[in-house]
Amino acid sequence: MVISELKKQIEQMLLDSGNEDFQFEAREIIREVIGRKAEDLPLSDTEYEKCIGMTDRRIKGEPLQYIFGHWEFYGYDFYVGEGVLIPRPETELLCEKAIEHLKKHGGTFADLCAGSGCIGITVARQTGQECVSVEISEKAFSYLERNIALNDVENLITAVKGDIFSEKIIEKIPDDSLFAILSNPPYVNKRDMEDLQAEVRYEPETALFGGDDGLDYYRRIFKAYDKKLKKDGLFAVEIGEEQGEAVSLLMKECGYNPVIIKDYSGLDRIVAAIK
Ligand code: GLN
Repeated sequence: MVISELKKQIEQMLLDSGNEDFQFEAREIIREVIGRKAEDLPLSDTEYEKCIGMTDRRIKGEPLQYIFGHWEFYGYDFYVGEGVLIPRPETELLCEKAIEHLKKHGGTFADLCAGSGCIGITVARQTGQECVSVEISEKAFSYLERNIALNDVENLITAVKGDIFSEKIIEKIPDDSLFAILSNPPYVNKRDMEDLQAEVRYEPETALFGGDDGLDYYRRIFKAYDKKLKKDGLFAVEIGEEQGEAVSLLMKECGYNPVIIKDYSGLDRIVAAIK
């Protein structure tokens, strides 16, 4: 069998299972197992079995990212798997905003609810600034540590395990010390949790669920961390598409003057302010 035939077979299997992204996903599976090769080249039995095995898992609903065990974000590679949120392309916007800011007004920053670590690690790699990455979940924290090693940023990232709202964690960060505070906290509301896409159901609830209206973290994060942020520092958070107004209001209540930034689909995605 040659690669193009395998590709057709995988595409058909995915299509039959109702997968609309079947062409992209078939290409990704083949690239993961075989690499980038001309499509008229033959493949080995092992390669064939591996590809079909992955396709079977995908058909059962598992996200491609978990099946591969890693995924690209901002051009960097991150380990992912059960227990950690998969880095989303929209989150790259939060990184861009932070990179732009820290390149001009550089210094230590924080990534709260760090998960895989993709935000802090990306921004640290791009700016050379140090980051405190805080994550509560045991499983996610192990990915954070592995991703720090994978990206070779042990000298820049301090990984702290714990609840971002616990006194112990808050005390660890000196007041008036951060040049930016970044966070992609859980923000999915109760109604949307019941309605998640099949793949997203594989991801940890602790990384997704932000309380009845999805705003639980925002209600506390600005108040709890305001004193850690330097004057002229950036406070930027990712939000759900319907939360722009509400999160802006919560920031205003803490004395900020926020802007809402839209994602590639034109949906509200980031709320950011300079202190
Ligand atoms: N963007 C994710 C989703 O819609 C949610 C991520 C989060 O809650 N921080 O599934």
